[in-house]
Amino acid sequence: MVKPFRKVLVANRGEIAIRIFRACTELGLRTVAIYSEQDSTSLHRYKADEAYLVGAGKGPIEAYLDIDGIIEIAKRNDVDAIHPGYGFLAENAEFARRCEAAGITFIGPRPEQIEVFGDKVKARQLAKSCGVPIIPGTEEPIEHLQDALRFAKTHGYPVIIKAAAGGGGRGMRIVRTPAELEQAYERARSEARSAFGNPAVYLEKYLERPKHIEVQILGDAYGNLVHLYERDCSIQRRHQKLVEVAPSLSLAPELREAICDAAVRLMKAVHYVNAGTVEFLVTPDGQFYFIEVNPRIQVEHTITELVTGIDIVQAQIRIAQGYALHDPEVGVPPQEKIETRGYAIQCRVTTEDPENNFVPDTGRLLAYRSGGGFGVRLDAGNAFTGAVISPHYDSLLVKISTWGNTFEQAAAKMLRTLREFRIRGVKTNIPFLENVVSHPDFRSGQYDTSFIDTKPELFV
Ligand code: ADP
Repeated sequence: MVKPFRKVLVANRGEIAIRIFRACTELGLRTVAIYSEQDSTSLHRYKADEAYLVGAGKGPIEAYLDIDGIIEIAKRNDVDAIHPGYGFLAENAEFARRCEAAGITFIGPRPEQIEVFGDKVKARQLAKSCGVPIIPGTEEPIEHLQDALRFAKTHGYPVIIKAAAGGGGRGMRIVRTPAELEQAYERARSEARSAFGNPAVYLEKYLERPKHIEVQILGDAYGNLVHLYERDCSIQRRHQKLVEVAPSLSLAPELREAICDAAVRLMKAVHYVNAGTVEFLVTPDGQFYFIEVNPRIQVEHTITELVTGIDIVQAQIRIAQGYALHDPEVGVPPQEKIETRGYAIQCRVTTEDPENNFVPDTGRLLAYRSGGGFGVRLDAGNAFTGAVISPHYDSLLVKISTWGNTFEQAAAKMLRTLREFRIRGVKTNIPFLENVVSHPDFRSGQYDTSFIDTKPELFV
C-alpha cells in the first residue's frame, strides 16, 4: 500500500538537510526545516518551504535531539514523514518508534534494524551467523581486563578496543602491548560511557594497512534488495573519512562480487528496508571482513549516485511511502541491470586548519566563491559570503563530488575544482585535500587506510 505524502520534515541541518529538501522538491513534496536558536540564520532554514524553531532554550546539539519538540512541530504542521539525515537522531530507534506512534512515517529502516546495527557486538554476531567473515574479536563485550589480555595473547598484538555503541571514528584505541592494554582498557570504558552512554567495549584484532570498502544497499518493504556497488573510503584521518572513491580501483572482479554478495546476504537476513551501508575492511592478501552497518544515508552517498545514476535519497522517500524498489516511481533497476559508469570522487571540505593540527576554525566567511563546471557536484551547508561558521556543529562546509569517464579525469577535475575555490575569513582543509588528490599514490588508486598517516609530505 502506498501512502500519500505531501509534506516531509527533515530533522537535521547543514548540507544533508538541503540535499534532502532538493530530493523532496523534485518529487513534488513540500519541505519543512527545523532549526536551533544557534542556527537561526543558517542556510538550511531558508532552503525549505517552511521552517520552525526547535528546542528553544536547549543547547545547539540538544535542539536537534529534541524528540518531543520535533514530533510536536510535525503534528502541528501536518507533516507526513520525517527524514533524519545522518547523525543526530538518524540511528535512534526510539525516535523511529515515536514517529510511527504519532502517525508519521520515519524515512529509514525499521526500529529493530536500527537497534541491531547500533550495537556493534550484535551486528558482528549477525554477520557471523550469515557466513559473512568478521575480524577475529571477542564475541561478547569484555567485562574484565583479564579477558581482554587473554584475547590479545591468543590472537596476538596489535588489537583495537572499540566501543560497542561507538561511531564516527570515535571510541577506538589501538593497543600494541599488554602494558598498553592494561592502561587503555579502563579509559576506553569510561570514555565509552561518557561519549555513548554505554561503557561496553570489545576487542578486535587490529589489521595492518587494510582498505575500507563499503557497499550501498537499498531494500524495500516487500523483500526486494539490491546493492549499488562499492565505495572505497580508505583515505581517512584519525579513522574519519576524508576522500571517497566509487567504484574502487583496486578490487579484483571476483573479490568485488564476493563483497557485494556478502553485503546483500547480511541485509537480506534482517529483511532490511530503505538505504543502508555495509562496511568492510580488506587486507592486502585479499581477505575481507565485516566491520559494521550504517542504517542510514551516508555523507558519501553522492559518489554512488554519480556512478549509478540512482538518486538514493529519492529512493529512500519512495520506499518509505511503500513503493516497491523496481516500481517506475522509484526507478531502481533489477540487480543485473545496475551498473557503474566511470569514476566519482568526493572530497569533504571542512573549516579546519591543516596548518594547526586541523583545529576547527570559526567566524564569518568574508568571501566564498566555489568551483564548478561539467562533472562537478557541490553539496554545501552554510556556505556563502557572509555566513557565520559556528563552533557548535561539525565542521563540514561543502562536499565536492566529481565524475569522469576515467579515474584520472575525475581526479583532474577534483584538483582543478579545489584550486578554483576562494574562501576567505575562515581556514579550510582545501590545501591538504589538494595535496591528497595530487599525490601519485592516490592517482595510482593503490592505497589503504594508512595513506595519510604514512605521508608527512601531505602536511606541508
Ligand atoms: P566508526 O563506526 O567509528 O566509523 P568503524 O568500525 O567503522 O568505526 O571503523 C572506522 C575505521 O577505523 C575503519 O575504516 C578503519 O580505518 C579503522 N578500523 C576499524 N577497525 C579496525 C581494525 N580491526 N583494524 C584496523 N583498522 C580498523
